[in-house]
Amino acid sequence: MSAVQPSLQPADGGFRFDNSWARDLPGTYVAQAPNTAPAPHLLVLNRGLAADLGLDADVLAANPGWFAGGSLPLGAQPLALAYAGHQFGGFSPQLGDGRAHLLGEHVGPDQRRWDIQLKGSGRTAFSRGGDGKAALGPMLREYLISEAMAALGVPTTRSLAVALTGEDVWRDAGRLPGAVVTRVAASHIRVGSFQFWAARGETGKLRALADYAIARHDPDLVGEDDRYLRFFDRVTQRQARLVALWMGLGFVHGVQNTDNVAVSGETIDYGPCAFVDGYAPGTVFSSIDRTGRYALGNQPLILGWNMAKLAESLLSLMDDPDAAVDALNATLDGVAAQYHSHWLAVMRAKLGFVGEDPADLALVQGLLTMMEAAGADWTLTFRRLADAAAGDATGVRMLSADPAALDAWLPQWRARLAPDAASRMRAVNPLVIPRNHKVEEALQAAEQGDMTPFHALLAQVTDPYRDGPGREAFALPAPSGFGDYVTFCGT
Ligand code: AMP
Ligand code: MG
Repeated sequence: MSAVQPSLQPADGGFRFDNSWARDLPGTYVAQAPNTAPAPHLLVLNRGLAADLGLDADVLAANPGWFAGGSLPLGAQPLALAYAGHQFGGFSPQLGDGRAHLLGEHVGPDQRRWDIQLKGSGRTAFSRGGDGKAALGPMLREYLISEAMAALGVPTTRSLAVALTGEDVWRDAGRLPGAVVTRVAASHIRVGSFQFWAARGETGKLRALADYAIARHDPDLVGEDDRYLRFFDRVTQRQARLVALWMGLGFVHGVQNTDNVAVSGETIDYGPCAFVDGYAPGTVFSSIDRTGRYALGNQPLILGWNMAKLAESLLSLMDDPDAAVDALNATLDGVAAQYHSHWLAVMRAKLGFVGEDPADLALVQGLLTMMEAAGADWTLTFRRLADAAAGDATGVRMLSADPAALDAWLPQWRARLAPDAASRMRAVNPLVIPRNHKVEEALQAAEQGDMTPFHALLAQVTDPYRDGPGREAFALPAPSGFGDYVTFCGT
């Protein structure tokens, strides 16, 4: 990646854009302007994130067109990025940003570089049959869940804004308000970005992309002879940790396709994702995931599958292909172990353990077996266990259908607890997650023009750990009448 251009605060008071992707990776994008929104209206602005990025939120608020498409902030150079991807196991050599525009990379006060991307901002060269647009509900959903994930300490793209375009879009549900979400990402380099050039046999382009990705995400590897191999190892480490964090929260991404796997290790592309209530490893929410490929409990396996696809894409960059196959395979073989150790660390923390004990795994598995048998609420069980660590096991007893098994398990668990376990547990086990019924309630109200439930829910899910009055309504699982939850990709 070429050096950062010295950038002063631009005359419009907005982003300090640099455009390294446009400069360094010709051929991997199509330069295209977003749609012109007839009546831009800024519905949600993330003032906290703006401050973190060194942006003046009042200036942003005064420029709704920047977030709806149409009027461009100074320095923006909008691009639709090319990428390929395995979708549900089948390879598409050309996907690309069909409804998104990368405006540029904002360089923050700490010199960190952030992609600023509009999603839902109109047709591009990659739109195929799609309209390039997005309905309000899915864009608010991405905002809400990505901000909840950030508050839960999970690497994720962020959401800076949601703006109405003033234009309706047509979906199965009928006519819906059109909207754009502004996504902030460490980068939009996906496993599928590598697959795009590997599938075309364009080794030069592939190398440029790999060097660019290394400069952005693993700058200590720049210029090293074995950098591609080591980059691969870094990506697997980041992804293994990420999926372990998802599993700790009962988060089902829902479309773990290779085009939705970021090499930065951030969760990206919030479409049909959702959190489980009752624990069941087979949980699937997405209407299109008919085989359960991306079910909760399958995510660690798919992690390995996706990393194998990245390894295949990088092969042609290696000087000695035979040795490279062995080295890549060795890393790949280690992914399951990496995942397992991250997952066990997550579970130890959730259970209030400090340090490592060989018996920990059996304790974790004992709990999971009970939870699965009872369909116990994933989130609340750990919170009630924190109460039990503080001396009150009433709540956790109510969640377990097998009192005898629980009575056998609790003393073993207690014997292993850190002295300050209750407060440690409350600091890592959320009280409030974006519960599906609450999300739906908020999105439906927003579509009717009432943003109050959305803002109330956003305030709760971005402050996930605290106990307090008025929080129970947000902490409880869906009432039984809510039924099975089905999600749809944000098209
Ligand atoms: P996703 O399921 O959001 O990861 O999208 C998969 C692919 O479909 C990506 O290439 C998207 O850009 C494209 N896509 C999704 N929705 C639309 C749309 N409304 N118009 C055009 N392309 C779309
Ligand atoms: Mg995608």
